[in-house]
Amino acid sequence: MNNNKRTINIISNRNIESKKTKYKLIEELDKYGLMGTENYDKNAELNVCIGGDGSFLRAIHRNKFPPIPFIGINTGHLGFFQEISPTSISDFVKKYVSKEYTVEEILLLNTLVRTKKKNFNLTSINEIVVKGSKSKVVHLTMYIDDNHLQKFSGDGIIVSTPAGSTAYNFSSGGSIVYPSINCLQVTPVAPISSKAFRSLPTSIIVPGDLNISIKPEYRYKNSILIVNDGMEYWYDDIIDISFNMSNKKIYQLKFSKDYYWENLKNKFL
Ligand code: NAP
Ligand code: MN
Repeated sequence: MNNNKRTINIISNRNIESKKTKYKLIEELDKYGLMGTENYDKNAELNVCIGGDGSFLRAIHRNKFPPIPFIGINTGHLGFFQEISPTSISDFVKKYVSKEYTVEEILLLNTLVRTKKKNFNLTSINEIVVKGSKSKVVHLTMYIDDNHLQKFSGDGIIVSTPAGSTAYNFSSGGSIVYPSINCLQVTPVAPISSKAFRSLPTSIIVPGDLNISIKPEYRYKNSILIVNDGMEYWYDDIIDISFNMSNKKIYQLKFSKDYYWENLKNKFL
């Protein structure tokens, strides 16, 4: 940016707790000669995201999946991604400066939506949900590596990353997947299993190098809603939608090796 100081981006939501936390962080960073800035700097060494999981997801999307590692400070509701609490900022900065952390990859989902006119690529941290844009049952044909698996009928399906497995996937009966396992999970939302329609009632976990694809039934190709990490997208004339592990990655600092299990227990039990 403007001087030789090491720069840290601070991406904060607008709530009062987050603002207070931001000022405290800037003050602590300054003690070690680090500059915290709210004007996103592409050459910064770290992105600190203050808020909850929603803010964390939006910070990554808005900044287009940058190579700068992320760490979160939780001022949100759940804050599953956010390892640091507002009360441990000075400890966090101290450990950061003395490099007491590891850098872990967050695996991402890549989705290709093919329509009659154009193709679209989406990248997700948590998941893609494919459902009906109206409150109707959707009918989708699902293939894994070009093998026909099932005709799905129900509210929709979730394709979740390991990091997203504790989010919508978990609420829909999917399994929790340890974040370093390279795989995708397909989880049905209210699958119909009747004499009229038959769909798998549980989720399937697929290795990251296989291709999952779904085709909306002809009369539903304009009534599909795609939700990427909570953001809605509509497309005209969808031919098919395919999913695989993205080549893109994002990086996250980890300060405690036991954090994953502590966090899981604290937030879900
Ligand atoms: P939101 O409606 O505020 O979030 C729903 C809840 O999911 C929040 O408590 C959020 O934490 C939590 N969350 C997000 N990612 C998580 C993860 N990887 N592991 C565990 N919990 C997680 O919307 P949002 O904050 O923008 O988050 C978008 C996400 O909401 C979507 O990606 C989807 O997974 C999830 N969602 C869940 C349901 C459901 O469970 N029935 C329905 C729709 C969407 P914070 O409170 O810290 O933000
Ligand atoms: Mn939220």
